[in-house]
Amino acid sequence: MDDVAIDEYAEQLVHTMAIELTHPHERECVICYVLRMLDEFGCDTTLRFARDYRDLRAPRATALEARLGSMGGFCDCEIFLNGMRRARHLRTYDEYGDEVDGKPLPPCAGVRRGSTQGCAHWVRRRRGPYGEDGY
Ligand SMILES: [Zn+2]
Ligand SMILES: [Zn+2]
Repeated sequence: MDDVAIDEYAEQLVHTMAIELTHPHERECVICYVLRMLDEFGCDTTLRFARDYRDLRAPRATALEARLGSMGGFCDCEIFLNGMRRARHLRTYDEYGDEVDGKPLPPCAGVRRGSTQGCAHWVRRRRGPYGEDGY
């Protein structure tokens, strides 16, 4: 391999890794994708990752931002603060019964292509009369 080939190879590798890092995985749902991007890059107070997912995977889902907004998700991190939470079997509780940061989530359970729904790892937050989640 001469120098040029090595350069090209390295460039290709970086490109492949960048795509792996920033693009939704095959069948990865929008919620797992946004969470993965937030872990890596943080929230910029917009729905940029939700929008990226939509543009890459479900360009016709023009109502996605409105749907996220209706659950209080006006930026990527608010999707998790106000909108979605881990399904019960993926939560961890301390001895007082309070939810704590648990194990990392398993890889996305997968959705059909073109869907903008969360996978089986996620449920909608529900607000009860005392700010408690319904379940
Ligand atoms: Zn945010
Ligand atoms: Zn998922």
